[in-house]
Amino acid sequence: MDTQIADPTLTTYDVERVRADFPVLSRTVHDRKGKPGKPLVYLDSAASAQKPRQVIDAMTRFLEEDYSNIHRGVHFLSQTATDQFEAVRGKVARFLNAPSERNIVFTRSATEAVNLVAHSYGRAFLSEGDEIILSVMEHHANIVPWQLLQADKGVRIKVVPVDDRGVLDLDAYADLLSDRTKLVAITHCSNVLGTVTPAKEIARLAHERGVPVLFDGSQAAVHGVVDVQDIDADFYIMTGHKLYGPTGTGVLYGKYDLLKKMPPYQGGGDMIESVSFEGTTFKLPPARFEAGTPAITEVIGLGAALDYIESLGREAIAAHEHDLLRYATEKLSQVEGVRIIGTAPGKGPILSFTVEGVHPHDVGTIVDQYGVAVRVGRHCAEPLSERFGVGPTARASFALYNTRAEADALVSSVIAVKEFFGA
Ligand SMILES: *Cc1c(COP(=O)(O)O)cnc(C)c1O
Repeated sequence: MDTQIADPTLTTYDVERVRADFPVLSRTVHDRKGKPGKPLVYLDSAASAQKPRQVIDAMTRFLEEDYSNIHRGVHFLSQTATDQFEAVRGKVARFLNAPSERNIVFTRSATEAVNLVAHSYGRAFLSEGDEIILSVMEHHANIVPWQLLQADKGVRIKVVPVDDRGVLDLDAYADLLSDRTKLVAITHCSNVLGTVTPAKEIARLAHERGVPVLFDGSQAAVHGVVDVQDIDADFYIMTGHKLYGPTGTGVLYGKYDLLKKMPPYQGGGDMIESVSFEGTTFKLPPARFEAGTPAITEVIGLGAALDYIESLGREAIAAHEHDLLRYATEKLSQVEGVRIIGTAPGKGPILSFTVEGVHPHDVGTIVDQYGVAVRVGRHCAEPLSERFGVGPTARASFALYNTRAEADALVSSVIAVKEFFGA
């Protein structure tokens, strides 16, 4: 597939050039009649990232030239479309350093990927009294599917705490592991605190007891280099729309021997070998878990997004984002009354904060008047906001296209919030 590759002679990260790839970033918001609005300062990429021209173009080109349903057609377009769709599976495998594209299942979202494992693996191999270990900083997507399993099968959920910085308590985790533990499901990077968890150590401790581990990599895969074989993850999950790709695309990586023994999650076309009313036989994974027509065009877009990320270089992106996080943290913590939630060393570029005396919804609404888009709420991780006793927070998240000037805009808009409220 044709995607533009950044100039390899580029030695420093040229964020202005990167920004030029994202059409939406040049727009203004809150325009009024005859009055230009504020430049958009998009600091909500942890909820969903913006899309580069390369992704938009790849999808348009596919729709204009090669679109067809895949896998079952003998005609030219169907085969072309199938080849392109399957090529993305290979790209995802390389992106995660999976041993093979057989390990890659396409889902509609990270949420669907967790539900797939909970429904298929969970219902087949867990029973009453078995324990699942989660952490207190999980996204609801990695809590609720296990609670549904709990209601269904009587499994028990144990929760690993974090310290006041948001660092996972590894000792408590080791203590929770027991002969009753049948699965560990923990985030690789918190979408609220930014905490990166010691995935390799988490997996090692679980594997000592023969317990498989699922990592929610929805954030980690965006902000760093992930190697599922080095971590020794049994399951690894990511989501396309946070990776500068389209919505409707998620990924489940699974070790093949695990995938192979798992029963189907949904039934329908494309996952069957043969169907009769006496009995239906199922294809091998990954096809077994991909019932129905997938998000074909969107998967093509995901492939272009991964190419785009690789063209900038994942290490270069991480270094750029780390610089922004450090810069913004330093500036924001100088503002009196601002409390930053999540200060774990080596954290991802996510900055959750409260402003003393101001409700976070008011923070979000007022900074928005300055063009600054942040998220407010509990960020789909209610147990965590309880842990820190803060209720909702405001969250600024940084991506490969953000700048120090945007961090400055965040800080000055927060100062404006304080002035507005006399806080
Ligand atoms: C966004 C997010 C999810 C859910 O991803 P979807 O693809 O939107 O379902 C799960 N976990 C974490 C950590 C996230 O940030």
